[in-house]
Amino acid sequence: LFITFEGGEGAGKSSQIRILADTLRARGYDVLVTREPGGSPGAEAIRHVLLSGAAEPFGPAMEAILFAAARSDHVEQVIRPALESGTMVLCDRFMDSSRVYQGVTGGLDPAFMAALERVTVNEMIPNLTLILDIDPVEGLDRANARRGEGQADRYEKETLDIHRRRRDAFRDIARSDPERCKVIDASESEEEVAATVAGHVADLLEQ
Ligand code: C5P
Repeated sequence: LFITFEGGEGAGKSSQIRILADTLRARGYDVLVTREPGGSPGAEAIRHVLLSGAAEPFGPAMEAILFAAARSDHVEQVIRPALESGTMVLCDRFMDSSRVYQGVTGGLDPAFMAALERVTVNEMIPNLTLILDIDPVEGLDRANARRGEGQADRYEKETLDIHRRRRDAFRDIARSDPERCKVIDASESEEEVAATVAGHVADLLEQ
């Protein structure tokens, strides 16, 4: 099973993935936790370029192609082999982040984004996508508290309006694909969110 976590900054994706992985492992599942951009040595190298100042001069299309290159490597080197060997894969961000960050707020042509998605995902569509939904003001506060002001990566320094458009875009994706995507209120306590996450995963395991 392939489960992805999506959402804006400070929504708590990494903590929730850790909690879910612990719960599933305690029940005897073999679980791989991974993330994007990154997750394979080649993709982590691209992550470093994308999240550092080196990427400032890149245009949106170049960025999207780099995210796509990283995803393709991650899918083929890590995700597909793990799923084929029966390991459950939990991934922090995946194709919906590209749709939102590069597609919607990057302003790229939907046909171009769809083509990139097709070749990179290469049929490895998640069985379940949990969208952790939070007001960007609250999310950015959390992200700043965690990292300390001034430590934000380049994407986190963008305007509130951009973060709001991303939140709406994630919700739109969920509306258009309700079988795969579940929106979770991430303003609740960590325990409450974890319980909701566990409930969705239990539903999936029962199918
Ligand atoms: O999940 P995390 O916050 O660590 O993601 C790293 C950064 O990369 C984020 O600031 C996110 O906004 C950005 N990103 C992006 N496009 C993607 C995936 C992540 O701009 N497809």
